[in-house]
Amino acid sequence: MAEVLVLVDHVDGDVKKVTAELLTAARRIGEPAAVWVGDGAAAGKERLAEYGAAKVYVAPAEFDDYVVAPKAELLASLAQEKGAAAILVSASTEGKEIAGRTAVKLGSGVLTDVVGIDGELVAEHSVFGGSTLTHAKVAAGVPVIAVRPNSVSAEPAEGAAAEEAVSVQISDDAKAAKVVERVAQAKGDRPELAEAAIVVSGGRGVGSEDFSVVEALADSLGAAVGASRAAVDSGWYPNQFQVGQTGKTVSPNLYIALGISGAIQHRAGMQTSKTIVAVNKDPEAPLLEISDFAVVGDLHKVAPQLTEEIAKR
Ligand code: FAD
Repeated sequence: MAEVLVLVDHVDGDVKKVTAELLTAARRIGEPAAVWVGDGAAAGKERLAEYGAAKVYVAPAEFDDYVVAPKAELLASLAQEKGAAAILVSASTEGKEIAGRTAVKLGSGVLTDVVGIDGELVAEHSVFGGSTLTHAKVAAGVPVIAVRPNSVSAEPAEGAAAEEAVSVQISDDAKAAKVVERVAQAKGDRPELAEAAIVVSGGRGVGSEDFSVVEALADSLGAAVGASRAAVDSGWYPNQFQVGQTGKTVSPNLYIALGISGAIQHRAGMQTSKTIVAVNKDPEAPLLEISDFAVVGDLHKVAPQLTEEIAKR
């Protein structure tokens, strides 16, 4: 069975959920082989094995000293050497750049923002805010596919995750942009939005930059905080927390929307959540159509009561 290369997304060895999703998708196509750049492979490979990685190719430490270009060289070289059936990366900003560069090096094609892939390498895109699905396939060479986080559900499968050191050299061209400093973003106590099992989001209905009503409910549930674009554009909450077509895609077990109408562009980023709860004073709000539970009322009354009730348990 041909190998499917999966570029591992990790932070210091802590493997991100999207990698488990990519490995799950890779298993439909061929034999998943993880590609690890940076420190921490020894610690992270257990999680890769849990999602069926047969192998883990570990790049020389030097690869982590440069920005994107060496990763594209690494993937292209491995794909040629191993006769890979496909290359899967996360559709993050970095992942999409790596995907494009890799496809150029291979003379193949790239598909980005993919939300599903089948065993025949037909990729699915969700367009027009999720109202239409389109299907596409790379017609020449090794397909390079960037998959949106939270669009494939990760399913465990046993893999050996046998470690293999890679001996690819970085070209002088790829060394043109070097990492000079890494500054870790201040990490709060809340889980990361794209990885969280529970998300509590606030919209224009919150009414001001005081998002404490949203944050308090999120904290009572150990949830991440999200926001609609209206809330972000109003400057009430930082941009990296936007959920939707032009923000993050989330697929938590529980999504609670406070004062969010449910525009198609917002739904595109959360409609695959397992259980959706809407709190809205308008019984006609479109989000209620796809909600499992709805509370029609003022969020400033409903959310604090919920928070208080949860805190008692
Ligand atoms: P509104 O639509 O104004 O809804 C506010 C809701 O709050 C209403 O339903 C109201 O009944 C309710 N409400 C008000 N007060 C209360 C109260 N006290 N208690 C309870 N309920 C109350 N949007 C996104 O969210 N994410 C995206 O990624 C995104 N991308 C976009 C991309 C494009 C190209 C475009 C054109 C738009 C995009 N949008 C996106 C914007 C989107 O169309 C909507 O404008 C936005 O989602 C509306 O946000 P909202 O629901 O918070 O605000």
